[in-house]
Amino acid sequence: MSKNEELRKELCYEPKHACELIDAAEVKKADDFAEGYKAFMSQNKTEREIVSFVCRLAAERGFMPFDKKGVYEPGDKVIVNNRGKSVILAVIGRQPVEQGVRIAAAHIDSPRLDLKPNPLYEDTELALFKTHYYGGIKKYQWTTIPLSLHGVVIKKDGTSLTVNIGEDAGDPKFVVTDLLPHLAGEQMKRTLAEGVKGEELNVLVGSRPFADDEGSERVKLNILNILHEKYGLIEADFLSAELEVVPAFGADDIGFDRSLIGAYGHDDRVCAYPSLMAVLDCGEPEYTAVTVLTDKEEIGSEGNTGLASDYLCYFLSDLARLQGCAGRDVMSNSECLSADVNAAFDPTFPSVIEKRNASYANRGIVVTKYTGARGKGGTSDASAEFMGRVRRLFDENGVVWQIGELGKVDEGGGGTVARFVASHNIDVVDVGVPVLSMHAPYEVIAKLDLYMAYKAFLTFFIK
Ligand code: MN
Ligand code: MN
Repeated sequence: MSKNEELRKELCYEPKHACELIDAAEVKKADDFAEGYKAFMSQNKTEREIVSFVCRLAAERGFMPFDKKGVYEPGDKVIVNNRGKSVILAVIGRQPVEQGVRIAAAHIDSPRLDLKPNPLYEDTELALFKTHYYGGIKKYQWTTIPLSLHGVVIKKDGTSLTVNIGEDAGDPKFVVTDLLPHLAGEQMKRTLAEGVKGEELNVLVGSRPFADDEGSERVKLNILNILHEKYGLIEADFLSAELEVVPAFGADDIGFDRSLIGAYGHDDRVCAYPSLMAVLDCGEPEYTAVTVLTDKEEIGSEGNTGLASDYLCYFLSDLARLQGCAGRDVMSNSECLSADVNAAFDPTFPSVIEKRNASYANRGIVVTKYTGARGKGGTSDASAEFMGRVRRLFDENGVVWQIGELGKVDEGGGGTVARFVASHNIDVVDVGVPVLSMHAPYEVIAKLDLYMAYKAFLTFFIK
């Protein structure tokens, strides 16, 4: 190595492909970890399905429902299910919680099409559902792909029906139609944003009329009859339902080298899954380890299952009271990795990215000091001190990581749950996995980055 090269190695910050920094055995571990993730992704597509999955898995791994009046010892594992849509898992640490806890916070809602409260209609002998899209989507991407229907219906008598149609072999699927190019001359003149409009995202659900009837809207009646015979539903039951339309495909390897994974909803299940696995695997940690998987991030963390709600704060306060201290003292001494994705550099669209501060697939977990828009508006902006703490933690424990901003200054922007965590006086920084085609029905991530996210959360909990 020449003197210049030596000096460059010593002085310059040059992030590298994870393959240049880890050995073949660790690459193998990453590939194995990805198999569990792919199965999880194919089987759990909505916040409710993920919470159900987490509750089942946590019970198998010894987690008990949190008892506000319970007595807990180091290593005890507790779980709080918030309305079936967000969940907190904690492993009690050896240190009193007054010394602070370690929190990993990821979200389990993803962009999708929600059914409107009164969705079913017939037009020209086709039955369709009206939808209202949820989160930031490019609407044209949601046409002409197979879709499935997930969610819950509360029936007139108060009983609950869980819906999951379009995922199992043999299930029917659904679709949003689009114009043929031959007749799309006028549509093609629309901007990309308006190419398909919100009120054009109508989901096709049937086309045969009810047999023994002379009246109008017989196709709609036939659909209602099927729903009634099969599920005991009447049309008014849609009024008390949460039904979500999502892509019907599962997770797949992408590329000849199988280095990437394509799936719906990597944002943010690609952080939720490793932060879940880390809290399951953290043993008896020094500091109480907490993973919170939250809802509603994609629409601003609103509602009582989103992190703008105080449900995490209440849990930490309950923990504090059990140990005879105040919740505010726990929170003021706590640290959080706000686990959310960042935009991976896409060589096909380089103009929106500032290359020196972008995140790249395969360079490990990305640490995002601040998010926001228009001059850091709406971000918590992690302190140099906390950045320094996380930097040393990752460097000293073999976590491959990179720094990354979300796009060029004033190109756009976005937010995460970090600011809601910071509002409780908790030190917090965003970390996560770089994603290609973020918020599309089929997003792409790199397996090595997924694994480094797991390693990062586990390190954070146990070191
Ligand atoms: Mn996200
Ligand atoms: Mn998002």
